[in-house]
Amino acid sequence: MAQKEFKAESKRLLEMMINSIYTQREIFLRELISNASDAIDKIYYKALTDDQLVFNKEDYYVQVTADKNNRTLTITDTGIGMNQEELENNLGTIAKSGSLAFKHENEAKDGHNIIGQFGVGFYSAFMVADHVTVTTKALGASEAYRWESSGADGYVIETAEKDSVGTEIVLKIKENTEDDSYDEFLEEYRLKAIIKKYSDFIRYPIKMEVSGQ
Ligand code: ADP
Ligand code: MG
Repeated sequence: MAQKEFKAESKRLLEMMINSIYTQREIFLRELISNASDAIDKIYYKALTDDQLVFNKEDYYVQVTADKNNRTLTITDTGIGMNQEELENNLGTIAKSGSLAFKHENEAKDGHNIIGQFGVGFYSAFMVADHVTVTTKALGASEAYRWESSGADGYVIETAEKDSVGTEIVLKIKENTEDDSYDEFLEEYRLKAIIKKYSDFIRYPIKMEVSGQ
């Protein structure tokens, strides 16, 4: 499928994320884990009113997997997933709450503090990753889809293979530069500390696996 462009305002936010010389980059993980948790909440609430759907607590969790050799950090959830249209609408445009709040506030104030206070959303992944792949299967859907982007140039959506309902987000962690190191985002102790700092209140288990060196 052909590459699509982000909407103008999404592109602006994305560019800010990509180029941020930002000391609180670590909050990208808070954003992705909160999205994962929201997605599980959606299944949970659906199950309350849908007799066909049983919510077994042990089936719902967030998995964080770092692979140092491949320089990838993967966040997987067993939440509600997205169909093709939702992928397009949710990740091709700035989503409601968080990102918009950030955008507006940022016009008035200094962006450096704002970013930590507000939910800046999914695009914050681009503060630490130069390529992001989202593979997702919606509850009740037969097809899975993949959304891929290397940033401001746009994104591609295509059909994908995925057996289970939920979403997998693979971040290709940026290479270190003279001024910046991103290696910390593949280190177990750092990931654990970030999760403890920002995601301690999450209602679902957050599992972790780190491989490579
Ligand atoms: P917000 O969470 O404030 O809505 P985000 O930019 O974080 O904004 O996410 C945009 C939207 O993308 C979410 O509202 C949700 O619909 C969708 N989304 C993001 N991550 C996931 C996920 N892991 N599972 C299902 N939907 C997701
Ligand atoms: Mg969010």
